[in-house]
Amino acid sequence: MSRPTEDTYRHQGLRKKLVQHLHKKGITDDRVLDAMLTVPRHFFLDSAFDEVAYEDRAFPIGEGQTISQPYTVAYQTQLLETEPYMKVLEIGTGSAYQAVVLAEMGVQLFTIERQKKLFDENWKWNFLKQYSSISFFYGDGFEGQPDYAPFDRILITAAAPFIPQKLIEQLSKGGKMVIPLGAGDVQQMMRITKLDTGVLQEEVFENFSFVPMLKGKNE
Ligand code: SAH
Repeated sequence: MSRPTEDTYRHQGLRKKLVQHLHKKGITDDRVLDAMLTVPRHFFLDSAFDEVAYEDRAFPIGEGQTISQPYTVAYQTQLLETEPYMKVLEIGTGSAYQAVVLAEMGVQLFTIERQKKLFDENWKWNFLKQYSSISFFYGDGFEGQPDYAPFDRILITAAAPFIPQKLIEQLSKGGKMVIPLGAGDVQQMMRITKLDTGVLQEEVFENFSFVPMLKGKNE
């Protein structure tokens, strides 16, 4: 992959327009909008996509996977309601764009990717080395990351066919999970809050379409 390395005024202008568009679409959390204004999304795509990187669309990142649409990233990040220094687990690192948006918001991020090639791209990529608050893992997100649990927040960025029980176990009391739920073409965005009593409270939001969350690792 050949990545752009320059963040020009043109890119910055397009980014500003994208963020204004997200605000109009209902993203009102300034911390989310500020983070997305800061992160050069075009760095996360091949330079072939330079012209379109700030359109509100998903793009291929190899291995049949995608970088989520900016609106989807903003929507999930807003629902997650993070605060600085929280421990957050992300399932589906992909391009690492969502991971960097969360890191810019000041959380301590643990992120898991099951595709070896995508994982390797990320840990070799110099740009990401400045984000010491992100830990990258190659593994199966259904298993979570028990060594670092519990997490204040868990974000799933692939279509989950069911609510993964091990991830619920790794959620702290009072913690929240944002999960696109559904095995078909369309998923319902859900937010699950683990109350202090351990009872799960579920809220249902808009429909989205994600690539599937798959079991096991891919070499
Ligand atoms: N957050 C990403 C979105 C990538 S698409 C971004 O900002 O670009 C979803 C990703 O989830 C894909 O890379 C896919 O390989 C990964 N994935 C699917 N099932 C998984 C699993 N069980 N564990 C970890 N990652 C998984």
